[in-house]
Amino acid sequence: MQLSIAILPGDYIGPEVMGAALPVLEAVLKRGGHILDYSTHPVGGAGIDIAGKALPDATLAACSRADAILFGSVGGPKWEKLPPAEQPERASLLPLRKHFKLFANIRPGLLPEALINASPVRPERIARGIDMVCIRELTGGLYFGQPKRTTPLPDGDIEAVDTMIYRKSEIERITEVAIATARARHKRLLSVDKANVLECSVLWRKTVAAYVAEKAPDIALSHLYVDNAAMQLVRDPAAFDVLLTENMFGDILSDEMAAVCGSLGMLSSASLGDVKNRHGLPFGLYEPAGGSAPDIAGKNIANPCAQILSAALMLRHSFGLHAEADAIDAAVKKTIAEGIRTADIAFGATAAGTREMGAAVLARL
Ligand code: NAD
Repeated sequence: MQLSIAILPGDYIGPEVMGAALPVLEAVLKRGGHILDYSTHPVGGAGIDIAGKALPDATLAACSRADAILFGSVGGPKWEKLPPAEQPERASLLPLRKHFKLFANIRPGLLPEALINASPVRPERIARGIDMVCIRELTGGLYFGQPKRTTPLPDGDIEAVDTMIYRKSEIERITEVAIATARARHKRLLSVDKANVLECSVLWRKTVAAYVAEKAPDIALSHLYVDNAAMQLVRDPAAFDVLLTENMFGDILSDEMAAVCGSLGMLSSASLGDVKNRHGLPFGLYEPAGGSAPDIAGKNIANPCAQILSAALMLRHSFGLHAEADAIDAAVKKTIAEGIRTADIAFGATAAGTREMGAAVLARL
């Protein structure tokens, strides 16, 4: 198979962790007899510096030609004085999501047994680690609904309005993604809403229940209100498997999930839409869950695992290369289990650098 990939390293630690991930990707594909055809393009602050905007036209064109995007991270203090609409993250990631209609965000929450100490959760509650996936609707709900405005009132007060809107069809298409994810795991799906208060959530719960009953009777579906889900996630994260949420609830719960899993440096994510690539599989954007970490950039200490695991997610979803993705996941797990770790997960022990960690994963592939 020929894999055409647009590589967008971005800013601060972005190029560092991408530099550690690429050799792993190249090696696993070479071993499987596949051809990696990639090109690297500026995005975020790098896009502003090189081409005057966070998502340069040439970068977007290269993404459109590719089967998938492997993204690093963008933003940082260098561009903080720009107007909000021109900031690296807002002016590159959001337009990319919008342009490619990436409505499904898949974020695995993985805490291997060897890293139980990295979690703020009591060790006896997560004795066998955490292994869950959050499926978040990414292009609807409160963040995009209109009207969205702030208005001064005649009585001198100020009123702000955001609008939460969901269509049945939007809920069905994200449920489809959640069903596929649950089927590939343990056939358990937990849908989160606030159906005791919100109209959108009433529609959400009804639609998810009807869709799963009709299309996936093999899936065990349950529901939780979002406040209860937030509580259970810190109380008993190991009990979670596949979590399905609307946009804002997913934004919050997926960060809570990242917190219980210890380090942002370990968490990958995929954003998928309806657009298919040349292989008839979902075109997607794959990126670490964390940001550009300016506080640790340029020191060769960032954890490259989230970027490496994002490449594995890409092989799985956009290319159907499950054996290759499994091999990368296993190599990361083995490296960590053998005690080779970057500073964020080393607990005071001698830490490996970004490059050394990447090389250790590569050696165990
Ligand atoms: P951040 O995720 O960059 O960093 C939060 C903390 O996590 C920091 O202490 C950082 O050192 C640590 N961290 C993150 N990734 C790590 C890794 N791979 N290894 C070890 N430690 C890691 O969040 P922030 O500091 O709030 O944001 C910094 C910049 O990143 C901002 O400009 C923000 O807008 C941007 N950002 C970008 C994205 C993205 O590109 N998708 C996402 C979030 C934030």
